[in-house]
Amino acid sequence: MAKSIPIRRTLDDNRVFIDMPDGPDNPCTSCGACCAHYRVSFYCGELSEGSGGVVPAELVSQINALMVCMKGTESGHARCIALSGTLGQPGIGCRIYPNRPSPCREFANWLEDGTPNPECQRLRQQIGLAPLHRLD
Ligand code: SF4
Repeated sequence: MAKSIPIRRTLDDNRVFIDMPDGPDNPCTSCGACCAHYRVSFYCGELSEGSGGVVPAELVSQINALMVCMKGTESGHARCIALSGTLGQPGIGCRIYPNRPSPCREFANWLEDGTPNPECQRLRQQIGLAPLHRLD
């Protein structure tokens, strides 16, 4: 049974951000599938060069006047530039985890009732990893 408990924070605007704690039972540190699948797009106000943003501006591609995406993810099905390590192997991780954009913070590997996110299960299966267990 998995022991890693995601840390959930609800923002003033009701968005829920998820942080995964460090530890050997954190399944994300040997996965990385979501960071090599989606286009990771977000509002340019999250950039470090904006007012109060934290995402390094040099790591994004412009989509339009208001939106950017993490470099590498422009068309989906490819690695984000900030992902380091080998997909599906221990040690993979986000080089900018404390400063990652909101779509990454909103992606939950477990839902609030403790069931694994079906998207997580699907992407893990695609890279040959075992499914996540339900949290207690
Ligand atoms: S910024 Fe980090 S968490 Fe977000 S997709 Fe890239 S590697 Fe993954």
